[in-house]
Amino acid sequence: MRKLETKTIVVASHNAGKIQEIRDLIGPLGFTAKSAADLNFIEPDETGTTFEENATIKALASAHASGLPALSDDSGLVIDALGGDPGVYTANWAERPDGTRDFAMAMQKVETALEKAGATSPENRTARFVSVLCLAWPDGHTELFRGEVEGTVVWPPRGTQGFGYDPIFQPRGYGTTFGEMSGDQKHGWKHGDQHALSHRARAFKTFVETCLEA
Ligand code: IMP
Repeated sequence: MRKLETKTIVVASHNAGKIQEIRDLIGPLGFTAKSAADLNFIEPDETGTTFEENATIKALASAHASGLPALSDDSGLVIDALGGDPGVYTANWAERPDGTRDFAMAMQKVETALEKAGATSPENRTARFVSVLCLAWPDGHTELFRGEVEGTVVWPPRGTQGFGYDPIFQPRGYGTTFGEMSGDQKHGWKHGDQHALSHRARAFKTFVETCLEA
């Protein structure tokens, strides 16, 4: 397992919501980070069929383009009643023909598919958010970290915080959706307690324990 020796990295993402969350997570550790979007890097095609493959494609593209270590996130919503969909295609479900993304439409698509599958009660609407972080170095070395959070898909959407599918995901044991939580609540950070809640915070915790702590 390779340790990260520098405090300057690239956040290998063009997704504003993700970049904000990753900045929130790495900021307190003293990192300086530019994103692939800030640096005008081309967004690579996500041609993989797993979160791990796509995270690796994105991190290597930014590490090679910048000459710095790069941290990517590939994530998605895995819904049991839909056989794991939208899964690695979670971003694609939000895509309009003109290339823009519409998450109100994407959440409606999820709801329509669940109704079609007869998944109308909470027990049938179980899901998990998955995040795979990849740290890549310019020499091609990579490390992967996976985080998951179990929950339920709710309808109608609730809350205006967060991004993407947050308003329809309620983590298990909580009465609020991610869309109704502040960033700190979604990460799971409490006073003096770094008990991670979100998929991304859980993957990040493993990254810190593996690549940063001695
Ligand atoms: P990708 O990793 O860029 O392929 O896209 C991941 C997709 O999953 C995006 O469309 C996000 O909106 C969605 N997603 C990932 N993580 C979260 C999250 O924490 N909240 C809400 N949506 C998420």
